[in-house]
Amino acid sequence: MRRSRAIHGAALLLSAAFAAPAVADDAVIARVLERIDGRQIESDIRTLVAFGTRHTMSDTQSESRGIGAARRWIKQRLEACNAERKGRLSVRFLSHVELAGRRIDRPTEIVNVVATLPGLDPLGRERVYLVSGHYDSRASDVMDARSDAPGANDDASGVAAVIAIACAMADQSTRATIVFAAVAGEEQGLLGADRLARDAAAEHTRIEGMITNDIIGSSLGDDGVRRADTVRLFADGLTPMLKTVLANERNQPGEDSFAKQAREQLLQIARIGGEHDTPTHQFARAVKRAAEQWQPGFKVQLVARRDRFLRGGDHLPFLERGFPALRFTEPVEDFRHQHQDLRESDGHRYGDLPDYVDFDYVARVARANAAALASLARAPAAPARVVLDTQSLSNDTRLTWEASPEQNVAGYRVVWRETTSPVWQHQHDAGKARELTLKGISKDDYLFGVIALDAEGNESAARFAGIAQ
Ligand SMILES: [Zn+2]
Repeated sequence: MRRSRAIHGAALLLSAAFAAPAVADDAVIARVLERIDGRQIESDIRTLVAFGTRHTMSDTQSESRGIGAARRWIKQRLEACNAERKGRLSVRFLSHVELAGRRIDRPTEIVNVVATLPGLDPLGRERVYLVSGHYDSRASDVMDARSDAPGANDDASGVAAVIAIACAMADQSTRATIVFAAVAGEEQGLLGADRLARDAAAEHTRIEGMITNDIIGSSLGDDGVRRADTVRLFADGLTPMLKTVLANERNQPGEDSFAKQAREQLLQIARIGGEHDTPTHQFARAVKRAAEQWQPGFKVQLVARRDRFLRGGDHLPFLERGFPALRFTEPVEDFRHQHQDLRESDGHRYGDLPDYVDFDYVARVARANAAALASLARAPAAPARVVLDTQSLSNDTRLTWEASPEQNVAGYRVVWRETTSPVWQHQHDAGKARELTLKGISKDDYLFGVIALDAEGNESAARFAGIAQ
């Protein structure tokens, strides 16, 4: 550890001569975060609740009640704030008809509301980050399309956060493309998100990261303790890989591209470890780093699981198709205020009402998202390939990497951590070099990655250092 600290100290000195600051300093991101406001989020959540129910099979004709009115309002809200900011968002409905199935009793139009902020870099714009919330809601019976289902926390909170981030970023410049989505059919089986993920896979869209915000509304747990300084981020890329490879072995002679990629990554893990270093884990670390840097005191708690037990979310169809995907959820849930008919029972009020939402907390989660999305979309792409040199017995570490494919890379940052640490612990800026030897840092004892930086110090996600095949 003493040696590692010595190098870390040297890195701080070197960074003075380096083109990018050691900590990101970007006026664009500061401005985006300032624009996110708890009072506006409150107003949007109350408007969504006022549609009575937003059940996927509820009325679509009324202008005041049901899912049709809700989605028309979401689209108009995004268009209005884009116009106000003279923004670059293109807002549209993406719809398909879902046939009767397990949680759909008649053919039903599933409509996603999607706003796209196109990247401005000719190569970078092919890189896509997607952030979502689901605007459908439910009562106790998942097939009940008539009863009131306010869904203030589940998931008007997520939709209001997505609207807030989209409106704050509408007129900003990013290298990569960001897609803001309010999806439907989550409660009926992740139908809207599944369609987005399926289309992205079919069109070979390069989704570098997807985040669903689902139940991000309350800082007060069912234990009565308020935790307004934490949000959980569910991040697991390993189990979808295992599932895909095992399913392919059982069922099909041929492999799809994700199964092939998953098999290669599992082989790499079998050789050198790194079971917490899938692209999903790297994306989660990058989200945590940016979110905590830009909003000091607000902690992103990484959970290396796909989701909570007995629950799922809109990130799952993305994970299953090989895209890095995460879920933000409040720290301790109160299940009396989710998926419940409005009623009084045993001295408790049940139902997902705005009374149980902490609007300033939603704003903090929205800022965590926005800091991460803005910095990742403004940073260049990570180096395509990073190789850990294991050709000789040595107590040093030598890394080489391919250049980031995008222009205007200000430099590269090598990061490393102990094999049992969830987050990067050390860093050393390499300037524009494409190799680095860390003297006295043994490759046997650490996991390594390389990050690409822009001139403001915005970081890409780390590319994990593998070994040459
Ligand atoms: Zn939900």
